[in-house]
Amino acid sequence: MVYETVIKNVRLLEQSSLFHIGIINGKIVRMTEDIIHGEIEWEAGGGIALPPFVEMHTHLDTVLTSGKDLKNLSGTLMEGIELWQERKAKLTYEDVLERAEKAIKLLIQHGILYVRAAVDISDPELTALKAIISLRAKLQHIIDIQIIAFPQEGIISSPKNKDRLVEAVHLGADAVSAVPHLEHTRENGIKSIQECFTIAEHYGSFVHIFSDEVDDEHSRFLEVIADLAISKGMGERVTVSHANAMAYYSDSYAAKVISLVKKADITVVSCPLINCTMQGRFDSYPKGRGITRIKELNEANVNVCIAHDDIQTPFYPFGNGNILQAVHMGAHLAHMSGETERVEMVNMITKNGAKAFGIKDHYGIEVGNRANIIILPVDNVVDMLSKQPACRYVIRDGQIIVETKPSEPTWHKDSLISLT
Ligand SMILES: [Zn+2]
Repeated sequence: MVYETVIKNVRLLEQSSLFHIGIINGKIVRMTEDIIHGEIEWEAGGGIALPPFVEMHTHLDTVLTSGKDLKNLSGTLMEGIELWQERKAKLTYEDVLERAEKAIKLLIQHGILYVRAAVDISDPELTALKAIISLRAKLQHIIDIQIIAFPQEGIISSPKNKDRLVEAVHLGADAVSAVPHLEHTRENGIKSIQECFTIAEHYGSFVHIFSDEVDDEHSRFLEVIADLAISKGMGERVTVSHANAMAYYSDSYAAKVISLVKKADITVVSCPLINCTMQGRFDSYPKGRGITRIKELNEANVNVCIAHDDIQTPFYPFGNGNILQAVHMGAHLAHMSGETERVEMVNMITKNGAKAFGIKDHYGIEVGNRANIIILPVDNVVDMLSKQPACRYVIRDGQIIVETKPSEPTWHKDSLISLT
């Protein structure tokens, strides 16, 4: 039998044996160590095959704006917010579209075919939201984009954002958000969470709240979100990003919150790159690491995801869309460097992400599933996290979207001699 496409010599994570994948009509129909042939054949050279990565938290409206006239001299969140207020006023539909499309290409090259992007809805015209919605439609055949309607300036302290959240859902946003720790008072923070849940419940949207992104043990909104998710039975559709304050909670209160989060069945997304850059700024030494309790949440079987978050914005100047950089940083900061923990860190951008994203029945390298496959030119997880390469192949429904040849140094005899 000849298959439409065969990917030769791949391996699964932490497995030594090589096998070949036969694809027909965009589906995986065979996985075997026997030699098989296809009309099209791609050589994976022993690289690791994974389902596409899931990026659960990025921003496509702010992306790729740092540099040039937008320089954050102090590197702080406060200066980032000030700079963004100025830049935001100049946003145009074309400007957002152009940068977002560039960013999506970066994400795809690094194996991300599912991305959840926050878009600020403070603008009365919703210009950025409309641009990202059109981009989502344009690229729907190669990448799944979910959009979070994100009220950067709050819901209670910026009341017009409540109507805009609803308008955003009508326009096509998948998730609604709140930023309770930025509201003026604790009480308003709770109200903003309630408003967010009410809208999501009414329209069947995802809830994706940016919560407790402060180094303050008194920032305790995660318990409120978990409690609402339990009482409304919405846990599977609820995600919380950041939850940095949990690092500052007492161990006994943290244990209570973690068990509540587990009971609620909500997802916690940590963004180690920007979290460790932005948090701890008020600390003397020793400085906080800035991340939530990834290790303890994972040990309690909470669905934890890792995300890259900002890419070259006034808030975070680095990044090229490579989510493995975030996993690498997370493994360091969370002390998740153990043998099995390293694999669990990769789960946080694959199957845990798939659960939070709501991918139900076709995710994973298995016979019968859609042939959505990425191949990384590495032998194992340590290699993957150390080298953080772009994908050798990124495949969607059996079609290759992009391939990147691994870089190869060329050693010259004379230079070798001069080194010795
Ligand atoms: Zn973010």
